Amino acid sequence: MKFNLWFTEYHNENISLSMRVKEVLYLEKSKYQEIAIIETYDFGRVLILDNTFQTTERDEFIYHELISHIPLFTHPNPKDVLVIGGGDGGTVREVVKHKKVERVDFVELDEKVIEACRKYLPNLSCEMDNEKVNIIIADGIKYVAETDKKYDVIIVDCPDPVGPAKGLFEKEFYKNVYKCLKDDGLMVQQSESPLYDLKLIENICKYLKESGFKIIMPYSYPMPSYPSGFWSFTLASKKYNPLDVDENKIREALKEIKTKYYDEEVHKAIFLSTPKYLKELVRNI
Ligand code: SAM
Repeated sequence: MKFNLWFTEYHNENISLSMRVKEVLYLEKSKYQEIAIIETYDFGRVLILDNTFQTTERDEFIYHELISHIPLFTHPNPKDVLVIGGGDGGTVREVVKHKKVERVDFVELDEKVIEACRKYLPNLSCEMDNEKVNIIIADGIKYVAETDKKYDVIIVDCPDPVGPAKGLFEKEFYKNVYKCLKDDGLMVQQSESPLYDLKLIENICKYLKESGFKIIMPYSYPMPSYPSGFWSFTLASKKYNPLDVDENKIREALKEIKTKYYDEEVHKAIFLSTPKYLKELVRNI
């Protein structure tokens, strides 16, 4: 029997995105947020935190491949990686595919998200027990402020800038990320919709520049399960430019890394196709 039950994420009072619910698999209130995992008709299983879509089985590969492989192929030798957030495990799953990666510190605030995703989203959480992965239940903002470890690549797989994630979009955080990167390190952050959240992207780029990063490049891509369907990451680097990477090296490495969206052509094309207004925004900060 098909119920007429729907989940709706309200972007604001005028815009929303809905999916019809087949089954509610998990519903729990943690110390930090309301966590739900639902089974849908068209997008498979879907993780929802505080009424916002986080990830879906249908389109997660686009997001997780692009947040991981772009920085990991831009850096020539990414041995030490820090992932902040990303409690579903999708980013960690992609990161450990890289032979050069020796260690992944995975700093997630909410152990209940990890627990729920281990149980209901095994396709995403499948590498959480990989020997390279060190799970640290902590606030990523505090972690980068206090640790004296240095990383090659830092990936910030965060939700919207509200609640405990708000500080992940503030200048103090970027300064600490800069401090935690080696002299040739780089970072990537989930940076919301280039259509709805332009002011936020402008602030992120401004703070990254003020924190000392030499190269700042937002990149955009389709994300059907997020409001507007059009999403972005922002890469900030001390040294390496993603456009300088040798395509042959990526092509060779991808013989052993299974991807569905990302390849050596996407690696460059995604930056070359950055909308004019986003490139202008970065030029003008
Ligand atoms: N792909 C998603 C998106 O764009 O909405 C993000 C997915 S992932 C589930 C986000 C994770 O960040 C959540 O599990 C949440 O608990 C975690 N998180 C939020 N604030 C955090 C913080 N300050 N430190 C570490 N993790 C945080």
